[in-house]
Amino acid sequence: MPVPYITLRQYEREVLSPLKVRRDGRGICYVNEQPPDRDRHGVLWMRYLQALDIDGMPVGVPEWSQTHPVRQRRASQQLLCQVCSLPARADDGCFFLEVCSGENGLPAEWPEGHVTTEPPLCPACLPTEAEQRRQLAGLGQAVVVMAATPRPYGVAGVLFSAAPSGRRRVALEETIGDVVPYGDSRIGWMLASRLALRLTDVRVVPPDSLTTARRPGTFPAARAQPAHVPEER
Ligand SMILES: [Zn+2]
Repeated sequence: MPVPYITLRQYEREVLSPLKVRRDGRGICYVNEQPPDRDRHGVLWMRYLQALDIDGMPVGVPEWSQTHPVRQRRASQQLLCQVCSLPARADDGCFFLEVCSGENGLPAEWPEGHVTTEPPLCPACLPTEAEQRRQLAGLGQAVVVMAATPRPYGVAGVLFSAAPSGRRRVALEETIGDVVPYGDSRIGWMLASRLALRLTDVRVVPPDSLTTARRPGTFPAARAQPAHVPEER
């Protein structure tokens, strides 16, 4: 089983760096901040070590349940496959693998406009990943969707706030996992570890069409299907 490109490897750890409140009082910054610490939206990102070979691919024992923030961001931003890191775009969009918690069919509004921190999958890696995710989905449903226009939406990470005792201190307020959109006033207080994409022009992909695709460019166009139709098993 291939180790996904975005999976954290042994010895890859956050580089803990002192933070302070920005001079404008509207967020946090590193004490010794450098331009690469922020993304194109001005959001501050966690610093992380990477263990890469000479081809830029990760090496080391995988830590299966964890994701490397730098590689997750690269894959999401450039729409690269989260497993093999090759371009993930198919003929008319990108495939995403999502787990929906509904037990009795998909919610009517799902997945149009869904926000995800999962990078896309290329057509070659999709069938194997979908099968594995389906086995691990528990009560939820692993559903393949194709989004014609995945766009950066915001970030997930750690949200800080100014400590009431002084502007120079920051304290952990909440939360790991929630996505804060760009344009939200809290974005300046985020230390990001995941880039979130918003999926629009979305179609659910029937599971039986996944077995026919084995290499990029050969995947059949996803058939339009109402989002509320229960997944076939
Ligand atoms: Zn792939």
